[in-house]
Amino acid sequence: MLIGAHVSAAGGANKAIARAEEIGAECFQIFASSPRMWLSKPIEDTVAHKYEAEIQRAGMGPTVLHGKYLVALGSDDTQLLAKSENALQADIAAANKLGALGVIFHPASHRGQGFDAIVNRFSESVCKILENEPGNSLLMLETSAGSGDHIGSKFEELGTLIRSIGHDRVAVCLDTQHVWAAGYDIASVDGLNATMEEFDREIGLGLLKSVHANDSMRERGSSVDRHQNIGDGSIGREGFETLMAHDAFQDVPFYLEVPGTGKSGPDKPNVDRLKSIRAKVAARL
Ligand SMILES: [Zn+2]
Ligand SMILES: [Zn+2]
Repeated sequence: MLIGAHVSAAGGANKAIARAEEIGAECFQIFASSPRMWLSKPIEDTVAHKYEAEIQRAGMGPTVLHGKYLVALGSDDTQLLAKSENALQADIAAANKLGALGVIFHPASHRGQGFDAIVNRFSESVCKILENEPGNSLLMLETSAGSGDHIGSKFEELGTLIRSIGHDRVAVCLDTQHVWAAGYDIASVDGLNATMEEFDREIGLGLLKSVHANDSMRERGSSVDRHQNIGDGSIGREGFETLMAHDAFQDVPFYLEVPGTGKSGPDKPNVDRLKSIRAKVAARL
């Protein structure tokens, strides 16, 4: 279980590596381009070469890219759908070029159409993107907190989408705060066992390829997407001890997306908290 964090890629993806090292991260997540704008720029060859050399030197674990917040594959607005497909395809191209594990994206909202109405269109888009960008990088659907019409707060919905897509480059990122907000009890041993049994039944544990490790500002079942620093939220340090001891997570990289103790994003204190929990769990197992 590697412990990583979201870091800035300002100035180029190669610049992210030193930032990850600075906070003690063993792997990292970046945005390939601004998450709140549609513009995507391809990764330049010089950046890709520097990135490859730096990642080797630093011995970093798998990199993941986070997709744009604007992406909405379930949309019935043809313009929004086309922009979403182009943006995700650009991200997958960037991930392939960097040799990244994959791109994590939000299934987003069905905007009142109902989940069943979007399954086919969503699946066709994902297949098209993967066929247009052959390579090894995965498209990972992220679990959602479940506010409004957001898709993916139930494992059943992600499982339905993944079976409908039927492609071997599709996987899942489990966000600890989002599943907690969606009502899954991941902080008690019995609750976590039941949660991961449901994940296995609906999706398959083999498709759990990454974790967003975040504590929660709000209580379980709130449907509110508000991350908190590790140990300072309603999941708590003990909750993370329970989670990190579970078999399902042993070979899955963790990426922090917490506000940070100084409110400047994932930082060394949060990385160190997860590392100390990992050490404690390892000593107990
Ligand atoms: Zn996300
Ligand atoms: Zn979130």
